[in-house]
Amino acid sequence: MKIAILPGDGIGTEIVAQAVRVLGCLDLKFETETAAVGGAAYEAHGHPLPEATLKLAKEADAVLFGAVGDWKYDKLERALRPEQAILGLRKNLGLFANFRPAICYEQLTHASSLKPELVAGLDILIIRELTGDIYFGQPRGRREAPDGAFKGAPEAFDTMRYSRPEIERIAHVAFQAARKRNRKVTSVDKANVLETFQFWKDVVTEVHAQYPDVELEHMYVDNAAMQLVKAPKKFDVLVTGNMFGDILSDEAAMLTGSIGMLPSASLNEFGRGLYEPSHGSAPDIAGKDLANPLATILSVAMMLRFSLNQPEAADRIESAVRSVLAAGVRTADIWSDGCTKVGTRAMGDAVVAALSGTTTKIITKS
Ligand code: NAD
Repeated sequence: MKIAILPGDGIGTEIVAQAVRVLGCLDLKFETETAAVGGAAYEAHGHPLPEATLKLAKEADAVLFGAVGDWKYDKLERALRPEQAILGLRKNLGLFANFRPAICYEQLTHASSLKPELVAGLDILIIRELTGDIYFGQPRGRREAPDGAFKGAPEAFDTMRYSRPEIERIAHVAFQAARKRNRKVTSVDKANVLETFQFWKDVVTEVHAQYPDVELEHMYVDNAAMQLVKAPKKFDVLVTGNMFGDILSDEAAMLTGSIGMLPSASLNEFGRGLYEPSHGSAPDIAGKDLANPLATILSVAMMLRFSLNQPEAADRIESAVRSVLAAGVRTADIWSDGCTKVGTRAMGDAVVAALSGTTTKIITKS
């Protein structure tokens, strides 16, 4: 099994280093190969997603991704900005299904901005369509307004669109995921205003006919945003489009205490995937040994479960993380009185220690 390691920028290199150490503690044999991506790749090769990096990602069984981006690249033309690398990987690998679990660990209920009773035991899964919607829809651009009250004025426009197959495949993913959980899917749309999302709602309803054992509810995105902070535990699986999913998954992240705790998986139709923390490159804390590596370490667990067929190893990582939290070990973002504050590397040490007793068989090429 080959894993492509793409650390990226900012805290990406720090958190991925810890995740790779954890991978090395499992009694499993992987080949890993590291490549530059994002701003680091732009600096080294003049492009955020060099051909060699894309080739490696395509050949690998799974990709472990850190994060890309830094404000210093904001003035670059859009095609050369670090964030284009992640969009390019999603598109080229066909990663249409993004899984973002939002789990509130018992020991971290106080770190949530909501009352403990609202988030204790929270375990929801947001499934975001990742390769369509207004983020990829064409045409887009800037022009003179061709009509309307400000005809002739400069304007910018994007295109929101979804085809039937795109909606069907993500709906199947959501219903199948719900079957392994509490058998409830909430499809989030804006059908009252947007034609694209009336169509989304119609197609999801049609697909639901194949899953009579799963409950389906439809919810407008504004209500979903409200319900997520009012009564988040009433959700099981939420499925939605690219833009609404982007926003709602970050909102859900905060329910759990810190975005530094949230892993994610982006899968294609063959089960190959890219695994990354839900957060960005956090330039504000990069290089300071402050970043929480747990989202990336938990992303490795998702990788083992979804793409590498190693569910027991995934369980071991997740229980190691739980035991570290239970022991009161915390990075700054989740720290509270009475706990031991540690840096990125020491958090990696703690997870590695919790997994101890196994051997390392990693062949590394970089
Ligand atoms: P961010 O997620 O990087 O940071 C938001 C806040 O959360 C910051 O205060 C940061 O310090 C904190 N944070 C994030 N991860 C953390 C961790 N593991 N431990 C502790 N604290 C953590 O979002 P941003 O500041 O809006 O964006 C910074 C850069 O990241 C931008 O260039 C943006 O485009 C990029 N970005 C990349 C990705 C990606 O690579 N997939 C995703 C989102 C943003």
